[in-house]
Amino acid sequence: MDVGAWCGHCGESFRLAELVDDGFSGRCPRCGCDLAPGYGPVASGAVHEVLAAATALESAAARLHDVAPRLHIDARKLNADLADALGE
Ligand SMILES: [Zn+2]
Repeated sequence: MDVGAWCGHCGESFRLAELVDDGFSGRCPRCGCDLAPGYGPVASGAVHEVLAAATALESAAARLHDVAPRLHIDARKLNADLADALGE
């Protein structure tokens, strides 16, 4: 899953994975502003965890769809709950 993100300094969008592809600097890949002043290592870990969680969600949902095709995850509610969890 390609998790998108955007910078609160410049407003530009990027893939969340861009932050960790070449090692996490904590800086926006567009404007270079520090996105986690003083919390680089914690932010790096959290970015990796969000990416891993997105991948885990995608693969679990695909597996569930394969074995229980009549069981439907409520995507609309999940989207709303995810937005809440993301603080958006
Ligand atoms: Zn930026």
